[in-house]
Amino acid sequence: MNADLHSHSTVSDGVLGPEELALRAFRNGVDLWALTDHDDTSGLDLARAAAEELGLGWVSGVEISVTWRGQAVHVLGYGFDPQDVTLEAGLCAVRAGRAERAKRIGALFEDLGIRDAYAGAMRFAPNPDSIGRTHFARLLVERGLFRDLQSVFDAYLKPGRPAYVPHTWAEMGAAVQWIRGAGGVAVLAHPMRYRLSGAELLELCAQFVDCGGTGIEVVSGPQRPQYASAMAKIARHFDLDASRGSDFHAPLESGVDLGRAQPLPDGLRPLWERLP
Ligand code: AMP
Ligand code: MN
Ligand code: MN
Ligand code: MN
Repeated sequence: MNADLHSHSTVSDGVLGPEELALRAFRNGVDLWALTDHDDTSGLDLARAAAEELGLGWVSGVEISVTWRGQAVHVLGYGFDPQDVTLEAGLCAVRAGRAERAKRIGALFEDLGIRDAYAGAMRFAPNPDSIGRTHFARLLVERGLFRDLQSVFDAYLKPGRPAYVPHTWAEMGAAVQWIRGAGGVAVLAHPMRYRLSGAELLELCAQFVDCGGTGIEVVSGPQRPQYASAMAKIARHFDLDASRGSDFHAPLESGVDLGRAQPLPDGLRPLWERLP
């Protein structure tokens, strides 16, 4: 089963539209696909229609930005009703802070001598509510200041770097409840990407389970094989369903293409066998 349950379209910070993504997933041999735009489900209608047309397995998805102990953590939701009003109200509130944050990022870049960054980044964003750090990174790469997104994040956009603007996203418990209330399941995204000690990661997982989370992304994007083994251990320890996704954003940017992330390690309960 080639499941790819993590990808981004132009609705958030990807560069392909939902329909182009569906086609790419299909061509890459994906059996079950989820579009998981940041804090936004407005691409799901197009994604579902395209997947149905292609005969590609599809499940509703979203990636919600959460703040846990002062740091951004991502919670993936699957199999929910995209029309659910409480979920939509929650996502709307999360998105609402993005425009203001982006203006502040733009102002910091201005001080750093990088002109018109907000307006420039907005050209890459579908609307002010969806603008994020990736759009600024694309702008600086386009201007020839850096060779890839990672370098821009490292120089300017990561916590502690000069164009980083701290932001408070949703509470973890709220995000999980929005997903579950809409009939879906909540999965902790890319646990190896947070700046947490081993003990803190276990605390995060324990709290996630307390909140009602039932899954963990054991394979996410390009990662070293030993990460999957470490995350598999955590999945077993907390009895979580295991998920897999490419976290695909763009053909020339993403380290791994749709459907091409490494397989799940053995001895886990794959999320796709238990989706609502
Ligand atoms: P935001 O929600 O605006 O804070 O942006 C988060 C997004 O930025 C993530 O979903 C990634 O797409 C991207 N991102 C975060 N860190 C990095 C990094 N170190 N290198 C490249 N992209 C990153
Ligand atoms: Mn992203
Ligand atoms: Mn993420
Ligand atoms: Mn993602």
